[in-house]
Amino acid sequence: MNYFNYQDDKLFCEEVSVPKIAREVGTPFYLYSHRTLLHHFRVFDTAFAEVPHIVCFAVKANSNTAILRIFVREGGGVDLVSGGELYRALKAGADPGKIVYSGVGKREDEIDFALKIGILMFNVESDQELETINARAEILGIRAGIGLRVNPDVDPETHPHISTGLKKNKFGINIEASLMAYRRAATLKNLDIKGVSCHIGSQVTKLSPFIDALGRLKELLLRLRGEGIAIRYLDLGGGLGITYNQETPPRPSEYARAIIDASRNMACTFIFEPGRVIAGNAGILVTRVLYTKGNEGKRFVVVDAGMNDLLRPSLYGSFHRIQPVIRQEREEMIADVVGPICESADFLARGRKMSVFEPGELMAVMSAGAYGFSMSSNYNSRPRIPEIMVRDDRWYVIRKRESCEDLIRGEEIPEFMNI
Ligand SMILES: *Cc1c(COP(=O)(O)O)cnc(C)c1O
Repeated sequence: MNYFNYQDDKLFCEEVSVPKIAREVGTPFYLYSHRTLLHHFRVFDTAFAEVPHIVCFAVKANSNTAILRIFVREGGGVDLVSGGELYRALKAGADPGKIVYSGVGKREDEIDFALKIGILMFNVESDQELETINARAEILGIRAGIGLRVNPDVDPETHPHISTGLKKNKFGINIEASLMAYRRAATLKNLDIKGVSCHIGSQVTKLSPFIDALGRLKELLLRLRGEGIAIRYLDLGGGLGITYNQETPPRPSEYARAIIDASRNMACTFIFEPGRVIAGNAGILVTRVLYTKGNEGKRFVVVDAGMNDLLRPSLYGSFHRIQPVIRQEREEMIADVVGPICESADFLARGRKMSVFEPGELMAVMSAGAYGFSMSSNYNSRPRIPEIMVRDDRWYVIRKRESCEDLIRGEEIPEFMNI
């Protein structure tokens, strides 16, 4: 459920009209519904009410500090993958005791930062990382909470670029090899073994891959306990899919039921790292049509947002629904929606059947709340666009539009080039 609806043929976010915001902030911009974000978080969190758990929102899905704050205020934790994300999480007020740190390439300075803050645990992705974290913790005179991120070798049946739990993917430690890694970790004095984790991929629309992975983790956990290695946290990662077009992913309540049923008597605190399922359908991208044109029967709608603003269609061939902000009787056409970037891969929709748009009209690109702004860049020297959050009948700029000055911040022309 989300709170983007038409009232008298005009698109609203909660009780605010989208054209009104566009008039005041210009286009393009990201628009989020606070009520939707809160609702999605609560639905996910309460689905697991009967078991001890922490919902650690995946910061990479949407890293805006105001958005992170919503989940922090609900008692959520965060899952992060860089020192930059840790900085953001702390600015948002995240409780270090609810922070998990994933990612295959953690640098020493990032590890030190997280150790000093006292995060709950690192999800360690290699034998060498284990040694590095132990060494850094020893230098700082503390113990690092860790879990191993295991690769359970299950096929999430999603897009190959967002599948992460197969042997051929770079993520995690092979589940058989992880036993040796745990034994090694148990000998390292500055490590406190807390958990086991996995994350099989993203936009997963079936329950079975999650349950298969859970089964493999459970086996591992029992073996470890048999060897006296006490696992207290079971981190099942994120990955639950959403409806972009016709997908019918399990609801959070169904996902929770299946996981709870498959994990009886494990005596663990569960950690979940949802990103997309919380934020994806809580945000849209609003853009304006600049031109329309045709080349030999092909039709193009040129808009003022490009692949630098929303990369998913170009990167994964992802589908985002395209809707007019003002609905009216229109003819339909098949067209590509393209941006101003000098790349043929710069499109938001391809060969799409949609209503005819006229220059100057506003267009809503739906389901853009996750991996939208957070993946955006300045390519073609385009200032990054603002992020707006609506709550009830008010709206707030939660990130300003960048200026041209922002574009060159930090750049310097060496003195020998003076003119
Ligand atoms: C990306 C990622 C997530 C979030 O994935 P979603 O599909 O957005 O839920 C969670 N955990 C890890 C380790 C990730 O890399």
